[in-house]
Amino acid sequence: MAAVLPDWLSPQQFSTAIDEMANAIGKQWVIHDGDPKLRSYRDSFSTLPGDANVPSAVIAPDGIEDIQAILKIANEYRVPLWPISTGRNFAYGGPAPRMPGYVVLDLKRMNRILEVNEEYAYALVEPGVSYFQLYEYLQKNNIKLWIDPAAPGWGGIVGNTLEHGVGYTPYGDHFMMHCGMEVVLPDGTLFRTGQGSLPETESWQVFQYGFGPILDGVFSQSNFGIVTKMGMWLMPEPPGYMPFLITYENEDDLAIITETVRPLKVNMVIPNGAFTVDLLWDAAVKVSKRQYYSGKGPIPDSARKKIMSDYKLGQWNFYAALYGPPPMMENTLQVIRDTLGAIPGARLWTAEERKHDAAFQYRAKLMRGEPNMTEFGLMNWVGGGGHINFSPISPTTGEDAMRQYEMIKKRSHEYGFDYIGEFAVGWRDMHHVYMLMFDRTDEEERQRAHELFGLLIDEAAAAGYGEYRTHLAFMDQVAKTYSWNDHALWKLNERLKDAFDPNGILAPGKQGIWPAHMREKHSWTS
Ligand code: ADP
Repeated sequence: MAAVLPDWLSPQQFSTAIDEMANAIGKQWVIHDGDPKLRSYRDSFSTLPGDANVPSAVIAPDGIEDIQAILKIANEYRVPLWPISTGRNFAYGGPAPRMPGYVVLDLKRMNRILEVNEEYAYALVEPGVSYFQLYEYLQKNNIKLWIDPAAPGWGGIVGNTLEHGVGYTPYGDHFMMHCGMEVVLPDGTLFRTGQGSLPETESWQVFQYGFGPILDGVFSQSNFGIVTKMGMWLMPEPPGYMPFLITYENEDDLAIITETVRPLKVNMVIPNGAFTVDLLWDAAVKVSKRQYYSGKGPIPDSARKKIMSDYKLGQWNFYAALYGPPPMMENTLQVIRDTLGAIPGARLWTAEERKHDAAFQYRAKLMRGEPNMTEFGLMNWVGGGGHINFSPISPTTGEDAMRQYEMIKKRSHEYGFDYIGEFAVGWRDMHHVYMLMFDRTDEEERQRAHELFGLLIDEAAAAGYGEYRTHLAFMDQVAKTYSWNDHALWKLNERLKDAFDPNGILAPGKQGIWPAHMREKHSWTS
């Protein structure tokens, strides 16, 4: 199968560029020429048609010199490169590039754990290090530090942090917990952020700032550079751990739960990511939809009630955990009982009471930093594998939670899909994650899901809610909603793009930022 190529590259130029790259780093690290392995780099869960976004080639460097050699050739021929670290960013695109024809720069071989410091509780890692790998390393070496994995845990520290991913322990805001980066710019320039620029430093991973502007953010959710090392703070293993679940009976309890969570989070009474999870998200870990309903469209209320009673779940299920010496945890638990536990109909469950519950168990693992794949089981809810996450941000208020819930549930039911969602309170903000699941083998259903997602973006923006991250297929649309002062922010991003990457070779279109030579065709800012 001939590779799809960007407009400006002839097959001859492309093949010369790939040959030169293969000569520079070794042929065995290049996949091209319609090799069937290229298909493993597509996003097989998205709302886009079958083979959309299959790359034209994949190249896997091992180290800075390899990356610099590849960049030199890419600049010469204007070959678009799409960097990925572990490539598991599913629900948002996975390993697939923004457009067919790009070359995926797969950093999986750069998977060294360069340092773990137990005293200061940090790790310095390369991009290919997965959550499982770091977890196993800590276990094997009996290092008493916890990681904060994404669910599912097959992704990696660098990719997830750059995407602003969040987790479940008190270190759940990954970007907030990173400390120091090493970056290669598209022209091959290599530099380190923060204290890392001081040649003799011992402080790169203990102080996030350096001297001068803090540039780390510029390299997250962007296409300005390739991150080749990152420091990450890890949580010291606490002397005690107490995960809990509180179930609630009514849909509109979401308002009072959220109002009650806010002060508990802002005051740090609840130390970790606090999740209010809807019934189906928890149920889908254990059962499939057809066990309860064989009709079309969203599952009816009668079936929901049956699931609630069969699995002792609530319409809303609140998960959090306490950490520390047992007397401290007991005191805090009393505060939880007096607040969240005092909402009429609430029932608090301990780990002992839910020890046979797969949904409780995987969350208990995540809240103590143990990576696992259980949440991936959610996809069995409808079969056909399709899923994509819609994730708007809002302040933590009952009114915002209900408004979003009602708005999204109404639209998803109208389009024939179940509402499956959760509200995660990190500190002051709330991430609402709606997982749109659909049967990807059904062409009409796939298109319907795509249409619904686009509608949700615009309706949420009109109500003042913007997404914190989105799938490749919707990056331009979401970027466009951040439009204050005539899209001033994205116009600035384009200026940065031109300065960092004058030939426009790195991840064109990532986050809706297009390089100058593709702007006429793709950019929506002018
Ligand atoms: P994960 O497997 O942890 O979910 P990915 O490796 O899929 O993360 O990366 C998610 C996205 O982050 C990629 O599609 C890419 O846009 C960006 N990205 C990943 N690694 C890098 C990197 N080392 N430098 C720059 N951008 C990156």
